[in-house]
Amino acid sequence: MWFWPAFRRPSFYTWTFTAALIIALLHASLDQSQAADPGPKRVLMLHSFGPRFKPWSDYAEAIRSQISQQWQMPVDFLDHSLVDARQADASAEASFVEYLRSLYFRRPVDLIVAIGAPAAVFVQHNRQQLFPVTPMIFTAVEQRRVEKEKLTAYDTVVAVAHDFPAAFDNILRIFPLTKTIAVVNGTSPNEVFWEKEMRRELAPFSGRVELRWYNERSFEQILKDAASLPPHSAVFWHLMNVDAAGVAHEANAALNKLSASANAPIFSYDGSFFGEAIVGGPMHSVMELSQITAAVAIRIFNGEKAGDIKTPSTGFATPKFDWRQMERWGIGESNLPPGSTIHFRQPRVWERYSWQIGMIIAVILAQAGLITALLNAHRQRRLAEVQSAQRTRELATVSRFATAGELTASIAHEINQPLGAILTNAEAADEMLKSPTPDIGELREIVKDILDDDRRATEVIRRTRSLLKKAPFEPKVSDLNEVARETVTLLSPVIAGRQVELKSILAAIALPIICDHIQLQQVIINLVVNAMDAMTNKPSEKRIISIRTSKVENFAELSVSDRGPGIPEGKIDQVFEPFFTSKAEGMGMGLSIARTIIEAHSGRIWAENRDHGGASFRIRLPLVLNRQRIGLGSAAGQTALG
Ligand code: ADP
Repeated sequence: MWFWPAFRRPSFYTWTFTAALIIALLHASLDQSQAADPGPKRVLMLHSFGPRFKPWSDYAEAIRSQISQQWQMPVDFLDHSLVDARQADASAEASFVEYLRSLYFRRPVDLIVAIGAPAAVFVQHNRQQLFPVTPMIFTAVEQRRVEKEKLTAYDTVVAVAHDFPAAFDNILRIFPLTKTIAVVNGTSPNEVFWEKEMRRELAPFSGRVELRWYNERSFEQILKDAASLPPHSAVFWHLMNVDAAGVAHEANAALNKLSASANAPIFSYDGSFFGEAIVGGPMHSVMELSQITAAVAIRIFNGEKAGDIKTPSTGFATPKFDWRQMERWGIGESNLPPGSTIHFRQPRVWERYSWQIGMIIAVILAQAGLITALLNAHRQRRLAEVQSAQRTRELATVSRFATAGELTASIAHEINQPLGAILTNAEAADEMLKSPTPDIGELREIVKDILDDDRRATEVIRRTRSLLKKAPFEPKVSDLNEVARETVTLLSPVIAGRQVELKSILAAIALPIICDHIQLQQVIINLVVNAMDAMTNKPSEKRIISIRTSKVENFAELSVSDRGPGIPEGKIDQVFEPFFTSKAEGMGMGLSIARTIIEAHSGRIWAENRDHGGASFRIRLPLVLNRQRIGLGSAAGQTALG
């Protein structure tokens, strides 16, 4: 069955109405979606000269980033530069207006930001042709460059107010002796405007300083002149967009060149020039103005009418200075205006490497402390050594006196004998002289005997005196056999008195050693006296002491052996310790002193018990080989007994 015929066939008008309704609904829904998503805000940035011309380039950059930050939604920035601002050219301006119109006629932007005076002047000339109802912000412009009567309800101004006298006061405050200030300024229409304004505002300074205007010179000429300014000069950097030769200067290239060649410090009025070549002072703050401009832009985005937004002109910010320029021109912090801030302060070496320097100082201090402690310890040791040497010397002398005490009887006997003989001989001679014919030959014999006995007595006295004298350490080459022989002679009366037999078995070859004769003699005497003491209780026929000398490798050896009880087991090393004694009257210093003396001679002394009873003490001293002197032990050893 076919139902369609059951309805009335629609008329042409019905079709037309339905189609119109569908289109209207579609349109409405499209409009709604567009309203919900209006897309990014479109901002036309109108630059004076070009996007890289100072000071406006810095403001443009900061305004851009501030708007992006504050709006927090995408913003589409469209940049255009007013190329004809370099020199007024009406036909170029008209063409540029036409160009902008054709670009944005169909889809106007949400906001125009005119940056700098040239852009402001251009826009005000052409506001009616340039989207008359599009909101516009004049910014980075000096208040004098805005024609207030021409402002429309869609325009708002974020202006600055220059204060050239304040900038010049700053120069004179920093350098009170300033005589000349060269003013850098170019020849573009904007710069020409400002030259007139500056001349007017700075007129009060003319009596105090000479103002040298650079606007009619090419930049090359400016560089040359600035390099040879008279003493006490300064440079005031205003603008250098286009020089007298028609050359445009972008960014900071010209300023940096001038800084490199000028012989005077450079000041400015705008913070965009600060950062390398400018000394500093009160200047406009790029950041402050950019934040204000961005805030105004956001209010416009949010629907406020531009003409209703009024912003007071911004003056110079707190003075700021470049520490590097202060260093270069010798400016002290005390010369700066109160409240100034100092930028680019380079940390001093100490600040930059503080922890490394701290470490080095700590290490040096630790080292110094260690060295001091070591020196102190060394000094203490030396002192102790000297004191010990002093004691040892004193003890050695005491010990010698003690030994001498034991020798007194035999010394007396030794001297008495020749003295007795001398007396007898003298009496005999006297008797002979009484005869009228004395026997001259006999008398000569008697006199000879007297002289011999006298020599013998003198020799005994010499030996005893030399043993007892407080002699300094006097090392010299001696034959150990000779020292032994002499000591035996010295001791022979004592040995005989104590009914001891002494056997000397001396090496057949000479045993040259370097020694202090008396000290070595003292050691041998001590060993012999100890040996005699050890055998006191033995029957006299068994009291035998043997003194032997021999060559053992590169050493001369001397041993004193007895037939006493020997040294008790375990005491063999102890006998050399100070104050070790087994005798009722003993001091226990003899062997201790003997070891000190032998070690000072780079030798060795030790004791051993003999296989068939008795003790044996041995001394080894370095031999002097091939007439070559062998070192005399440690310096300490020499000191110990010297
Ligand atoms: P002192 O003779 O005043 O005791 P020494 O230092 O000369 O001091 O001797 C230390 C000790 O060594 C002696 O008291 C003794 O006990 C022991 N001594 C030394 N020589 C001998 C020796 N030949 N035989 C046994 N003992 C000895």
